[in-house]
Amino acid sequence: MNQKTYAEVIVKLAKQWKVPVERVDKSKLKNYQLLNAVSQGSEHDSELLIFTLKPKKTKAKAATAVVGKGLCYDSGGLIGKQDHMKSMKEDMAGSASVLATVLNLVKGGYDVKQTTYFLLPLAENMMGQNAMRADDLYTTGDGKQVEIAHTDAEGRLVLADAICYAKRILKT
Ligand SMILES: [Zn+2]
Repeated sequence: MNQKTYAEVIVKLAKQWKVPVERVDKSKLKNYQLLNAVSQGSEHDSELLIFTLKPKKTKAKAATAVVGKGLCYDSGGLIGKQDHMKSMKEDMAGSASVLATVLNLVKGGYDVKQTTYFLLPLAENMMGQNAMRADDLYTTGDGKQVEIAHTDAEGRLVLADAICYAKRILKT
């Protein structure tokens, strides 16, 4: 499963569970260079999916966000994992945990205390002609510059930009 097919599965599940989900349009992700960089070696672009649960009873103004990374495959990128690559399809477990949390909240009929956004940034860290390189510079969604020191440290890139995105939606 890659980030594209995973995103399609999530949209399908959301329909089944009757929970709205946003598969964020690529045009809205242009400034999230860290998230995009991780999939540069992959055939498919990175994805960001967001579930929103609103409280049924209270009208709390505060909101919160939960983020889980979804690395559909982590080859380690150009620097590589060499013989440690087996089972790296499991690097999407964080996003799977967030997905399961949404399912359990919905199926269990639980209410949330405040509006809660569940962000699932999906990517695939592959080797390829366009893959990110050590020494590359990218800008986060909130304007910080990041230098790539090791191409296998992609999880924090994906999480950092998802947190930037969460910050933006929490402000609105
Ligand atoms: Zn890695």
